[in-house]
Amino acid sequence: MSPNKIDRRDFMASSIAAVGTTATLAGESRAAALQEDTDPRGSGSGTVYTGESIQGKKVVSRLNVDDLDPGRKHFLYFQGVQSPGGQHWYVSVVVIKGIRPGKRFTLTSGVHGDEMSSIQTVQTVIDRLDPTQMSGTVMAVLDIARPAVESMQRRWPNSGRGADLIDMNREWPGDENGASATSRHAGLLFNRLLKPNSDFAIDFHTGTTGLEVAAFLIGDRRLPDVKTMADLYPVGLMWDDPAYPGVLHNAFVDVGIPCFTPEVGAARILDRDMIGLFVEGTLNVLKHYGVVSGPIGRTAADASMLIGNAAFPIIATHGGLVEFHAKLDDEVKAGQTIAVQRNMFGEVVAEYTTAVDGKLAAYRTDASSDPGNILAFVLFSQPGSPSQSGVEPYNEKSYPE
Ligand SMILES: [Zn+2]
Repeated sequence: MSPNKIDRRDFMASSIAAVGTTATLAGESRAAALQEDTDPRGSGSGTVYTGESIQGKKVVSRLNVDDLDPGRKHFLYFQGVQSPGGQHWYVSVVVIKGIRPGKRFTLTSGVHGDEMSSIQTVQTVIDRLDPTQMSGTVMAVLDIARPAVESMQRRWPNSGRGADLIDMNREWPGDENGASATSRHAGLLFNRLLKPNSDFAIDFHTGTTGLEVAAFLIGDRRLPDVKTMADLYPVGLMWDDPAYPGVLHNAFVDVGIPCFTPEVGAARILDRDMIGLFVEGTLNVLKHYGVVSGPIGRTAADASMLIGNAAFPIIATHGGLVEFHAKLDDEVKAGQTIAVQRNMFGEVVAEYTTAVDGKLAAYRTDASSDPGNILAFVLFSQPGSPSQSGVEPYNEKSYPE
C-alpha cells in the first residue's frame, strides 16, 4: 500500500466533485472514475487498506479474506459511502479466519437500524468461535446501515429532498454509482466485501419499531442449502417465501450464495432468550458445514417448526386503540377475533378476525393505530406457491422484517 495510491484516489474524488455539476459528463467515464480502484495488486480482488486506522481498527475499502492471517480474529472497518459531512460511514467487520481452509460464512446485521437483537446475535456467535480450532472463515458485518443504527431507526436518513428516509433492505445489491447514498453504500459493501468473501450468508433481522414478531425465518426452501440451514434452527416458524426484490438475502441468492433471514423478535431491545435460539441455530449451521466441531444442538424438529408459505395480513380499518386477544405464536382459527379497536370514547369501532388457520407471527405493539396500518399477520400454509395464492399474502407495508 503506497501513499501515492491514496493520493490518487483523493485526486479522483476531487475531480469528480469538480465535474459532477456538469450535465455533459459522459456516463461511462463517470462510472469509470467512481469505480477507480486503488488495489495495489491491480487484480481488483485483493484487500485494499486505506492506510487509516480508527480507534485501533484498520480501514479497508475492499477485502479478500484470503489475504488475512489464519488462526486469528481480525477487526476492521469497511469504508462505505460518504456522509453529507464528507466523512465516510464505516461498517464494523470481524473476520474469524480458521487455521484450516473451509467454507466461508458471512453473518450480517443492522441493515435496519432499529434491530438490535440482530447485531447481538451475530456478536454472540463470533464470540463463541476460536479461529485456532476452525476450518474456513466466518465474517461478521455488524452495522451495515450505519447512519440508521446511529439513530436506532429502521431506515437510512439521507439528504435527498430535505430529510429523507430510505429502507436499505429494498436497495440490494446496490449500485456504486446509484441515485442515493444508500444504494451506493449497498453497492460498495456488496461488490467489495460481501459477495467476494461468501460461500453462504445469513442476514439477521428483527421485527420493526411498533411491530413485534415471533422467532421465525424467512427464506426460499426450494434452495437445498437454505432448507438445510433453516432446519438447523430451533425456532417455531418459517415463512417459506423468496420475499422482496431488493432484499439482501435475495441479492446473495441471485449471485449463487445461499442465504436467508432469521427474525429475532422485537426491534430496539435485546431479547436474550430469543437471541439464544438463533445463536444455537447458527452454531449448528457452522458445525454442519464443518467450520466448527461439536455436537448439533436443538433444531427445527425440536421446536416443531411450522412452515408456512403465506402470511395473512390484518389491516386497520379505523383509527383508535388496538387491544389484542391473541399472543405471538398462538394457533388461531379462521374467524377468530385477533383484536378489537376502540375510539377515544372507549366504544368498539372495529373487530379484527383472521380469515385463515395459522399462527400469529407478528403484531403491532404501538397501542394506537390509524387506518391502513398492519396490525398483525398470521402465518399459514396453503397449496401451491405464494404467487398462486388466492389470498394476498402481504404487501410492502406489511412485510415484517
Ligand atoms: Zn429488518
